[in-house]
Amino acid sequence: TTLSQAQRTHLAQLEERFLVPSSTLESVYDHMQEELQKGLEKPGQTVAMIPSYVTHRITGEEEGEYLAMDLGGTNLRICKVTLLGAGKLKVAQNKYSVSDALKTGTSKELFDYLAECVDDFLTERAGRGSRGGPRLDMGFTFSFPVAQTGIDKGCLVTWTKGYDIQDAVGKDIVQLLQTAINRKHLNVRVAAIVNDTVGTLLACAYQAPETFCGVILGTGTNAAYYERLDKITKFDRTLSDRHVREMILNMEWGAFDSERHVLPFTRYDNKLDRESINPGKQLFEKMVSGMYLGEIVRNILVDMVDRRLIFSGNSSPELNHAYTLDTAYLSTIEADMQDLGLLDTREVLETILNLPSPTAADIVIVKRVCELVGHRSAKLAASALSALIRQRQDLLAPTDPENGGGPGKVMVGIDGSLYEFYPNYERLLLEQMTKLIGPDITSLVSIKLSKDGSGVGAALTALAASKTR
Ligand code: ADP
Repeated sequence: TTLSQAQRTHLAQLEERFLVPSSTLESVYDHMQEELQKGLEKPGQTVAMIPSYVTHRITGEEEGEYLAMDLGGTNLRICKVTLLGAGKLKVAQNKYSVSDALKTGTSKELFDYLAECVDDFLTERAGRGSRGGPRLDMGFTFSFPVAQTGIDKGCLVTWTKGYDIQDAVGKDIVQLLQTAINRKHLNVRVAAIVNDTVGTLLACAYQAPETFCGVILGTGTNAAYYERLDKITKFDRTLSDRHVREMILNMEWGAFDSERHVLPFTRYDNKLDRESINPGKQLFEKMVSGMYLGEIVRNILVDMVDRRLIFSGNSSPELNHAYTLDTAYLSTIEADMQDLGLLDTREVLETILNLPSPTAADIVIVKRVCELVGHRSAKLAASALSALIRQRQDLLAPTDPENGGGPGKVMVGIDGSLYEFYPNYERLLLEQMTKLIGPDITSLVSIKLSKDGSGVGAALTALAASKTR
């Protein structure tokens, strides 16, 4: 396929910006280490490093029955997780819908409904009358902003995602749920509030106890990891009396570089940010996560139409409309094969973006643009993850040879459709990590898909809570 001189020049400019020079990625890696340090020292920093109060490591030998509730996704989900030891487990789950009326009513109505669903679940799934049997501990994945002050204490800061129940704001959500459960006389204790990154970490750790970190690469991006307690200098030391060595911190790394010191912003990133519902916030997330990658590509394509470089200068209502290009199509296009004629890319352009008869040159350009945006995401995510590995490099020190030791190894559990489905995302992550932290360290790091953070992970958080007490 031959591109015109103008097309080639423009693509070269895009490549210059989106391929990201290694010096910039090194700056991202360095700056993430600095920001992480600040978050350990003081509250209220850009990278917030929020304590989870989970201080216990998972061995995979844990046994027992735990409940998990997940509120804040599309459905309400309740699971019973049976831990069998040796990394084995069983999960039974039900989904319940939450009506718009409940999302905008009173807190009593919502939490009574949640308790009713627990009652229904126990009756149907736990094979027993809901009021009988020994007490079950429950982990509560509550995907809204919470100011947590203990593993089972935290006040709702504000609602998001279409929920708006004013009388719940500022209240302890564990207490609200526990009170509703008690009203129904269910023998269930709400034992822990669970952040999805922490759940991802623990779910992975049950199979691989060397897991030190959980990462989300889905709609948004974030990470949590085990930090040494003596490094969390902002934290009061009451826990260190109890032989606690580590605590999982929820980094909230999506907010990284709100000051715009190091990230490789382009005009397309600036436009996306300006037109978003949270301008100036979550700038790292806006370059990395699934919610935004398709939109960055769309912005680039619209700009090229205006320059009459593609689609003969014609757009479509679909291409003009924000967020019509789901990041899932970037995966389709990335996987599309040149020697098979790029038929899938053509299909996305014709049917999803309603751009009839794209030329061979149009299709090649679109594919290249998608790759540039997808690969930049992986490189930036890898730079952040490398900073985290550097922070816990102590875990990679060779273990005691007297105990049959060898080099230390760590596992990273990752959840989210971007990581799961974008072709070669893992390879791209590892390639960039190798550049930043070297092949020797990278070879000691394994990455694993960890899918059930809000089920298995929440159950394990409830378990960790009972060990902490
Ligand atoms: P969540 O993070 O909300 O729990 P997911 O992990 O499924 O859920 O992430 C959803 C995000 O992933 C959406 O932004 C969507 O665009 C993106 N996504 C979905 N499918 C794919 C895919 N095949 N390839 C890349 N991104 C995808």
